[in-house]
Amino acid sequence: MPRKEQKCNFCGRDLGKNMFAADENQGFICFDCIERGHQLIQEITAKHAQAVKDELQFDQLPKPQAIKAFLDQYVIGQEEAKRFLSVAVYNHYKRLLQPTDDNGVEIEKSNIILVGSTGTGKTLLARTIAKLLNVPFAIVDATVLTEAGYVGEDVESLLVRLLQEANFDVARAEQGIVFIDEIDKIARKADNPSITRDVSGEGVQQGLLKLLEGSVVNVPPEGGRKHPEQEFIRVNTQNILFICGGAFDGIERKIAQRLNTQVVGFEASKQTEHLDKNNMLQYIAPQDLKSFGLIPEIIGRLPILTYLQPLDKAALRRILIEPKNAITKQYQKLMAMDGIALSFEDEALDYVVEKAMEYKVGARGLRSLVETIMIDIMYDIPSSPFVITKEYAQSKIEKASKLRLQNAV
Ligand code: ADP
Repeated sequence: MPRKEQKCNFCGRDLGKNMFAADENQGFICFDCIERGHQLIQEITAKHAQAVKDELQFDQLPKPQAIKAFLDQYVIGQEEAKRFLSVAVYNHYKRLLQPTDDNGVEIEKSNIILVGSTGTGKTLLARTIAKLLNVPFAIVDATVLTEAGYVGEDVESLLVRLLQEANFDVARAEQGIVFIDEIDKIARKADNPSITRDVSGEGVQQGLLKLLEGSVVNVPPEGGRKHPEQEFIRVNTQNILFICGGAFDGIERKIAQRLNTQVVGFEASKQTEHLDKNNMLQYIAPQDLKSFGLIPEIIGRLPILTYLQPLDKAALRRILIEPKNAITKQYQKLMAMDGIALSFEDEALDYVVEKAMEYKVGARGLRSLVETIMIDIMYDIPSSPFVITKEYAQSKIEKASKLRLQNAV
């Protein structure tokens, strides 16, 4: 039987065997047209990547001091972390814009790790930086991750949020920044003997390493679960900056142990004198992260290690009133919408801070304390300016359940 004529639907030629047929031989495309199509896609992708790159103008980049000044408006204290972050973000931009023909010198990326107790401002720093950036920025949580093949999410899913932030524009996502919160939760469990597999610890770290190092990864666009049939999006993580944050509960002990072993002997008296026992995090070094259970390869890929200070009374008090978005300012705005001028006496603020310290709820607890004080006023809506005195604050807090306030964070 003579062969039915089969023409390429694109160029109209019949190339015999060098054709692909669609379902049931309904439509054809010849190999030449596939090749041309492929080239075209590459050209369009490269052109788009260049356009995305051209959007960043070196002279319009915020300088580290400007980034820090911006952070200062929202985040109290944490000077070192702010400086490190500001420089890292600026360098990230510079890296994206680096000329390629500079005698082979290539600026490598410097991912960051922020260590600080919960509620000291790690996420706040990340969120605030995101407001200022003109590259996609995603905040993701490491606790959902498990090793590939287990219930939970694969590490690649961390990039889904970034893709979403970039409206699935891959070239844009590839310039982005990812903040991975709770990185300490994927530490190797020291007391976990390797007879049971550590699917949420070391395996995840190995997976994460691939991302941090810079490689092309297949991201499931739907995130989390693995559907074998779903299409992947290929993302190159080479230029993506990773900022990791974690509380690393108990790491102070590892730091102290290391320092104690170091100071045995000649240097002992000299060094111990200077140790500030209330803030051991300031002495943190990469080997402490290793003792905590991060694998050395991961630590090597997070070369910038910085810490957040525990918040003392003075810091908590400033947090109540100073940030652009301070809690007291928010309640004043709420009341102003009813035409009521609201003010807080200094003693009332001191009282709130004391309670936050007493209940050990830190900065996060300030909101529920103030909310407890404010609820009746917001309900009754007074008809004249209202001053929150210490007595008033005290009467409301004492009436409220201590247990509830302690657990409100
Ligand atoms: P972390 O990520 O370190 O656990 P967060 O950044 O989520 O802590 O802080 C919790 C809340 O406490 C923030 O939303 C903010 O209201 C307040 N807060 C914590 N630290 C600071 C700070 N240094 N300056 C201003 N507010 C802070």
